[in-house]
Amino acid sequence: MSLSNKGSRQATQPSIILIYTDDLGFGDVGCYGARSVKTPNIDRIAREGLRFTDAHAPSATCTPSRYALLTGEYAWRKPGTGVLPGNAALIVEPGRTTVASVLQKAGYATGIVGKWHLGLGATGGPDWNERIAPGPNQVGFGYHFLMAATGDRVPCVYIENEQVVGLTKTDPIQVRYTKENYEGELDGVRDRAGLQVDWSQGHNQAVVNGIGRIGYMKGGKSARWIDEDMADVFTKKAVAFIENNKARPFFLSFNTHDIHVPRVPHQRFVGKTSMGPRGDAIAELDWCVGELLKTLDKLKLTKNTLILFSSDNGPVLDDGYKDGAVEKLGDHKPAGPWRGGKYSLFEGGTRVPFLVRWPARVKPGVSEALVCQVDFLASFAALTGQSYDKRTAPDSENILAALLGESKTGRTALVEHAGTLTLRVGSWKFIKNGRQLYDLASDPGETTNVATKFPERVAAMAATLEKIRGIGATRP
Ligand code: CA
Repeated sequence: MSLSNKGSRQATQPSIILIYTDDLGFGDVGCYGARSVKTPNIDRIAREGLRFTDAHAPSATCTPSRYALLTGEYAWRKPGTGVLPGNAALIVEPGRTTVASVLQKAGYATGIVGKWHLGLGATGGPDWNERIAPGPNQVGFGYHFLMAATGDRVPCVYIENEQVVGLTKTDPIQVRYTKENYEGELDGVRDRAGLQVDWSQGHNQAVVNGIGRIGYMKGGKSARWIDEDMADVFTKKAVAFIENNKARPFFLSFNTHDIHVPRVPHQRFVGKTSMGPRGDAIAELDWCVGELLKTLDKLKLTKNTLILFSSDNGPVLDDGYKDGAVEKLGDHKPAGPWRGGKYSLFEGGTRVPFLVRWPARVKPGVSEALVCQVDFLASFAALTGQSYDKRTAPDSENILAALLGESKTGRTALVEHAGTLTLRVGSWKFIKNGRQLYDLASDPGETTNVATKFPERVAAMAATLEKIRGIGATRP
């Protein structure tokens, strides 16, 4: 394919921005029914694009969803892909085929800004005071500006292109996830009354910016982030990446911290909703999205940029801090009509907001196709004409036609994951745990287990699930 042929490039090489939010539920944004928080920018993507109603994160928690999205392999095939501590080693093999490496091969500038949570460094994890590698650079991203793990885990610093940002040599960082061999303060318990946000569970180890975290961290004082500024910092880096690469196709994974805990939005969003910090964090998230949309408009890139907006798992209210998420919820339904949320095998665990906007090719509308983020690798390889060894990404299906609204059907079967496994085929959902069967067409809330009524369907779905489990993956 010739890049000089403008018509062909517009049809097959749009710039791609993945806006990957954290813990945002199906019902948390206006275009999916939220009324207690206004999300005009996210709603604009829906209005100008396709809104999916049966789209899924690969798992009901962060790390496994991100692993599967990037590699095209369901995380449960590989041990050690659960929610990682902040000092974990990289869990994606350097050199492996990923969504990013496929697009890089197609000539895209590739970058990731925000949450990583796939580990960094070789076995044993990184020395934060040295070059931090392997990491995103070894799995297809030409540029990165990261939070290593989560907002509630140490180290509470940013990493840009393999270096901690703002670190001074005289104050090195030490990070531990056990007290053994740790020489720093254990102030999360000692200073509890003085904390900016009190914890309800865990989050009582290192204290950074007045907030207790998971894990111990000493040093690196000049490099520590300020939670209230985090959305601004990430957005600025994402906008700069777009501006720096406006002349060529680019792939930007913009992985927001919002609306994960600790929810400490900037002062200008405090009180924007009646729901307290969790609602205000949604308002802040929407602002970030608006800044990206404005940048595309300004650079005249809107028409030929494919935006994907989604979340890494379903919603959670109290996730370890006392921030009023439960008390101030009102009639807001974070998971929309679905049962469960983050950590759950029910639909609320993985069925998330999912929007696709590409004005040059995608007609606005609503799609009921069954799609999953694990399919990005195969679908974008197809879009950009790239080939790869399919055994490295055994679970990624080319559902490009569904993603672009050119087909009403996506996957025929999907394995959902939250510790154990479930299988979706059409409107049927089989949960291996306790042999449960639900018909989402007549029972979207998964209230009535009909396994005893349909023993043959249960047996067939159990057999299909075993067959999918038996597929092997090739890794470098
Ligand atoms: Ca998450």
